[in-house]
Amino acid sequence: MVLKLTNKKDGLKRLELLKKLQLIDNHLGGLEKRKKVLLGDLEGKQAHVQEKQNFLTEKQKEHKKFQKEIDNKELDLKCKEEEIKKFRLDLYKIKNNKEYTALLSEIGGREADKSLLEDEILAMMSQIEDMAAGQKNLAREVEEEEKALKSLANVVEEELKGLDKDIQEARRQLEENSQLVDKESLEQYKRLIEKDGLAVVEVSGESCGGCFMGITPQTINLLMRCQDLILCKNCGRILYLLEEGPEAGEVAARPEGREESPSSIGQGGG
Ligand SMILES: [Zn+2]
Repeated sequence: MVLKLTNKKDGLKRLELLKKLQLIDNHLGGLEKRKKVLLGDLEGKQAHVQEKQNFLTEKQKEHKKFQKEIDNKELDLKCKEEEIKKFRLDLYKIKNNKEYTALLSEIGGREADKSLLEDEILAMMSQIEDMAAGQKNLAREVEEEEKALKSLANVVEEELKGLDKDIQEARRQLEENSQLVDKESLEQYKRLIEKDGLAVVEVSGESCGGCFMGITPQTINLLMRCQDLILCKNCGRILYLLEEGPEAGEVAARPEGREESPSSIGQGGG
């Protein structure tokens, strides 16, 4: 497979541009991946904290409900006490022995109910104390995790600002350099780069640097002429010979503070 071109100088220039595009694309891919990881991390933490907040709310509801049950029991207890008090007063009004005994037994029943209620209330009180303590711990944990989440969000936001700026710049460089490449070569390049980020490969030791299949002497000859865009017959990647590469030291300035900048292309000869 070849894409025709008229002269060697243009062929070399095209190859250098494609190599540069590949560096920018890979750099951009790294930036986008990092952004995705950061956002994924943050979302994961947010979901975790949200889950814990929901759990706390659930516990608070349970606590409230249980307190209501205790209140009701206490109301029952008060009723029983009132009844006992009333029955005891009634005892004075009774002349008949049989009625007296019946009322005494009635009072005895209420006393038993009262004692049972008191035991229940005591047990529930101790239970609700445990609930309150657990809830307090949980609330503290939630508070700490909310704080940690907030500081993480700040760190992520800060890094995202830088990333977005770098992504924008990489896209601008891609756009700018893409315009310098002929449509046919660019389309071939784009098909390849979108597949696995490796579109332009060096031929080393007479094999393709992408798939390691052998390259025929005829293909090597074509590569040396450097007039056509030569694609690997096996993987379709764009091939180049190292010897034919360096001529592109001029391609671009290295953006500040970025070691892996795509602009470093050409400085080592490919
Ligand atoms: Zn190949």
